[in-house]
Amino acid sequence: MKKTLPIFLTFFLFLALAACGPVNGPQTTAAPEPAASASETEAPAGTTPEETHLQPEEGWQVITIEGVEMLWDGYKVKEPDIRLDIDSMCFADFGEDFFTESYPVETERYTLCEGEIMETEVVHIKAEVPGPVLYIVAGVHGDEIAAWYAGRLLRSATLKAGELYIVAPANANGAKNRTRYVTGTQDMNRSFPGSPDGNEAERIANAIYRDIERVQPFLVFDLHEAIVYTEGRDFLGSNLIYTILDNIDDLFFDMLFATQDGDLCSNAFSSNGPGPKGSINNTVANELGIPVITVETFRGFPIERRVSDQLAIVQYALEYVEMR
Ligand SMILES: [Zn+2]
Repeated sequence: MKKTLPIFLTFFLFLALAACGPVNGPQTTAAPEPAASASETEAPAGTTPEETHLQPEEGWQVITIEGVEMLWDGYKVKEPDIRLDIDSMCFADFGEDFFTESYPVETERYTLCEGEIMETEVVHIKAEVPGPVLYIVAGVHGDEIAAWYAGRLLRSATLKAGELYIVAPANANGAKNRTRYVTGTQDMNRSFPGSPDGNEAERIANAIYRDIERVQPFLVFDLHEAIVYTEGRDFLGSNLIYTILDNIDDLFFDMLFATQDGDLCSNAFSSNGPGPKGSINNTVANELGIPVITVETFRGFPIERRVSDQLAIVQYALEYVEMR
């Protein structure tokens, strides 16, 4: 693990420099890293790098899920540190195949719950060619970082056809405070369809709900993350949740099977449903007849892997309906 980290970081840095740096000026190639000295690469006596493992901590035991070691307290996993400045990053930082081609688009932005603690922005991207309309709600729970990080990146996507709406983070106050809730213990994902006269979670839920009703997308993506792992129970960490699949059943099952065949995402996803009462998944499906796919990545994995999986799912859908 330790041995591969510098290689990964170098690769990562190179991608970041190659893809996100200023576009003017000649292309340069990163100089090769000097070889590490023997003392840096030598494993401690009696061990090999492969034997370097996470150490258990007080109250936490080490478990391995999908090849990744993580700490677990019997209920939740410990999320690895996240030190990314997402607004200075780009698709290529999370995988070289993301959104490589660029198309001319028009972009407009508008605000929901203006002037309130829940204020957030919707970005509307419109291709020159008419086509399907997709709506992405990223980060209804503010502490599910990879969900709204993916949403932030998707704001700079371009399209061959159709229209994309993105609200990221959907729960702006929760994202600022790194909490699930909008404020106090108000859970937006139990507050749909909400009300303009309700509490903070109900007001932002209603603003998003009404916007989806106005836009009438063929599909809503609802990007989330899971942190709970319970032995012997369904693993919600790599999961696609649906309530209805009207007109998207081919897309849904091809996408799900692509993860299970190893062609999409870093591990197999499972599926379940319906979404719980008051969730965007359940409410938009049952009240508006619009299918919602909730994507759950797992907070025990490194952030790059989680954002990459979120992007891969969205890109797969965009390509499937020929928006890209
Ligand atoms: Zn969530």
